[in-house]
Amino acid sequence: MTPFYLIVFTALLLIGFVVLKPMWIKQRRRKVMSQAFPREWRRILKRNVPYFYQMPADLQLQLKQHVLVFLSEKKFQGFEGIEITDEIRVTIASQACLLLLNRKSNYYPKLKSIYVYPAAFVTRHESKDSAGVLQSQSRVLSGESWELGKVILSWKDSKHGALVFNDGHNVVIHEFAHQLDQETGVANGAPFLKSKNNRCWSHVLSKEFELLQQRAAKGERSLLDHYGATNPAEFFAVSSEVFFERPTEMLKQHPQLYAQLHGYYQVNPAIW
Ligand SMILES: [Zn+2]
Repeated sequence: MTPFYLIVFTALLLIGFVVLKPMWIKQRRRKVMSQAFPREWRRILKRNVPYFYQMPADLQLQLKQHVLVFLSEKKFQGFEGIEITDEIRVTIASQACLLLLNRKSNYYPKLKSIYVYPAAFVTRHESKDSAGVLQSQSRVLSGESWELGKVILSWKDSKHGALVFNDGHNVVIHEFAHQLDQETGVANGAPFLKSKNNRCWSHVLSKEFELLQQRAAKGERSLLDHYGATNPAEFFAVSSEVFFERPTEMLKQHPQLYAQLHGYYQVNPAIW
């Protein structure tokens, strides 16, 4: 083959790949969605995910379809002796997929694997201090979201989050909100928005973030956990937990924040 034909051939191959790959993925997902939701998985929802039955019927169906796709694409890996079971996979997936309802979803495209620990786990972070000396810090976490393909979760906390769905704390929602945020690069509290919503979003979230920072500094109680005052990325993740878990209170106490999250997540949990 002459170099010219080789270039044309390679270009056609590339174009074919770029155009056909999304179509192929879409078709595969449609096929997965049309499969029956296994009876055992339904039992797991009944046992571990009571909020599922409070949702409108059309959203229940959508959530089950998302769970089927999610579990066909993401790998789960157990650490510290935990064996990955359907109970773990379905309980985590059904919370992660709440954030995808009614939206054009690409199923957390950067995410490849979910690492599961039996309970809270220790991570070590290294950073240089002002003198340039490497410092190692250990932290105990119930979840962590990495920009490049991983979410790490404590099973104990993930299960508790699904069972107790009214305390405003949910580690799975928190970490997957970070994943949505990380789709546009480093997490900064600004997930992908339709451009016309950008200004309003940053105005409302900045205002609410400052308010939480003030309350946290004074030690005042707040519907939103003070951890959300750490930075805008944590504020978005903490707000997402409260939006799904304590929606009526958020609507009452933070109506503008609720309206922004309602617009973003395209669901209205206050009426479920
Ligand atoms: Zn976080």
